[in-house]
Amino acid sequence: MVLRRKIRWLALFSLIGCLAAAGPAYVLLQHGVFPFLLFVAGALALAWPASGLVAERMARLIDHDERLTGIMRNVGEAIVLVADDGTVEEHNPAAEALFGRPDLDGAPFAALFAEAERGRVAALLAAGMRGGASVQEPALGIERAGARIEASLAISSLDVHGRRSTIAVLADVTQRLKHERELLRLATRDRLTGLPNRAMIESLLEAAVAEARRDGTRFGVLCLDLSRFKLITDTLGHQAGERLLIEVAARIQATVSGVDVVGRIGADDFAVLLDRLPEPEHAAALARTVLAAFDDPVDLDGAGHYVRPSIGIALFPDHADDAAELMRAADTALYAAKRQGGKRWAFFRREMADQARRHLALDRDLRAALAAGEFRLFYQPKVSLADHALKGFEALLRWERPGHGVVSPGEFIPVAEETGFIVQLGDWVLEEACRQQRAWLDHGLAPVPVAVNISPRQLRQRTAVDVLATISRHGLPPGLIEVEITEGAVVQDFDHALSVLAGLKAVGIRVAVDDFGTGYSSLSYLKRLPLSTLKIDRSFVAGVPGGREDCGIVSTIIAMAGMLDLDVVAEGVERPEQAAFLRHHNCLTVQGWLTGRPAPAKEAGDLLAVRLKQTA
Ligand code: C2E
Ligand code: CA
Ligand code: CA
Repeated sequence: MVLRRKIRWLALFSLIGCLAAAGPAYVLLQHGVFPFLLFVAGALALAWPASGLVAERMARLIDHDERLTGIMRNVGEAIVLVADDGTVEEHNPAAEALFGRPDLDGAPFAALFAEAERGRVAALLAAGMRGGASVQEPALGIERAGARIEASLAISSLDVHGRRSTIAVLADVTQRLKHERELLRLATRDRLTGLPNRAMIESLLEAAVAEARRDGTRFGVLCLDLSRFKLITDTLGHQAGERLLIEVAARIQATVSGVDVVGRIGADDFAVLLDRLPEPEHAAALARTVLAAFDDPVDLDGAGHYVRPSIGIALFPDHADDAAELMRAADTALYAAKRQGGKRWAFFRREMADQARRHLALDRDLRAALAAGEFRLFYQPKVSLADHALKGFEALLRWERPGHGVVSPGEFIPVAEETGFIVQLGDWVLEEACRQQRAWLDHGLAPVPVAVNISPRQLRQRTAVDVLATISRHGLPPGLIEVEITEGAVVQDFDHALSVLAGLKAVGIRVAVDDFGTGYSSLSYLKRLPLSTLKIDRSFVAGVPGGREDCGIVSTIIAMAGMLDLDVVAEGVERPEQAAFLRHHNCLTVQGWLTGRPAPAKEAGDLLAVRLKQTA
């Protein structure tokens, strides 16, 4: 406002100045003093509002201009007016800050950028000067005080009353690009090993498939999985697990050639993308080299740990039509390699996929069978060698499949475990065992404990509370149900297993380790778990008393159980010599054909009735 008033006065004075020069002289000369004064008064009266109008316009212009200048001075973007000859005509302070120099006016605009960018800038400038839509570039390098920064550039051309100006607007995007690149890195790299992650590997696979299709070439993917990884993290801790993964990543990386890409695609899963494979044999050779890289133990906390990876290989286009199918094929091959027992590799074969399909069909049939009530429990007695007393039963699942006879669990439990159906099926087994115990109680029999098998998956997904709820729903004393688990089940999620087993033990449910000696027999594990019984695996008992090694194993397990204060049960006892050996080594509870085959509930009930008579 102050400005506006000043201008008003200025305009007025200049008007008066003009009048004062010509008009008054004439009036004064011609008409004398009074008319002269009258004239001046009239002129003033006329000039005051007129000066107001002129002043108003000028003020608005200046005001506008000052506002624009103010904006120019204060915006974060660098604004540069470029003359037709490509030199800087005008600029704002942000431009000085961006380019790191005050002497911008007159400098060739393109020369303000890093050398490699100058051609590009000149081209953009030429395009911008031609008019039309503004031209833009997301990032251009600028050397500033020895450091490289990056700026976005937008060039537009303005035509004001026939006078054209080219305006360049620049923003420092160095930080933003850094963040974006970091985000991209995070999204595509595994944080721990720095290797490409699953998403990245998948998109590389897509690209490789497209390339192989176009060029008619072959490439391969190799999936690798560490079988004992979980055991290591559970016993040595998370950090040791991480160090192990870093070492594994480094060893794989060291075996592959520069063009092949190694990625980490899961907790302990790695993948190698094998670029161009003229011969499938190359993939096999690489698999062997990778496995050989694990001949030496990995040192963790001063102790050597052997890693036993398994590898599955699938080739494009031999084994799949697209990237997703190729990955599945490599995974299928990996599972086949794993089933052979670690430190193996396998090529994908069609039969493997057929098997996967069969498993799916079987899973469907199993679900239908449960709904149709085709499952039964058989009961196999556990007997004391001391007095032939019945100590308990193990509940064993049977499928009475119409048209197939009785299907044994070996044929469907592994599939149910793989598909996850085992959890539902296992719930049914526990329910049925409880129902049967209740029925025997209600018939006035004195039941013995019934052991149910809890699969690894079931153990992972169920809690002690679930088990107890079922038992108490049938009004059973908890001691009448026992649980058998395998070592492998514990290894997969030690902390959860520990909490389930502790919960069971707290209410008096006994827990046995099944198939003992075939899994990850680690004493440190056993000591930490609230167990009550070890069941010696049938395969060792089979070699007793003829096989020296089996005799050694069986007697060691019995001694170990004694040391850990656990009961011991021998499985698969078929012959009297086996029983004699076991009795001699102080294993007094046996389960096997010698003392009783698995039988339907009716026959098991008869055994209970006999027992009742004997004890009466
Ligand atoms: P397991 O838990 O080791 O059960 C013992 C297996 O040995 C049973 O096989 C039993 O019939 C068999 N067996 C018992 N005595 C002898 C013997 O003297 N000689 C020989 N050769 N075999 C004997 P089965 O019933 O075929 O069950 C096989 C496996 O299926 C079981 O092994 C267990 O791992 C699993 N299974 C059975 N029922 C269930 C269940 O309800 N749930 C789960 N998760 N698994 C079950
Ligand atoms: Ca068992
Ligand atoms: Ca067993």
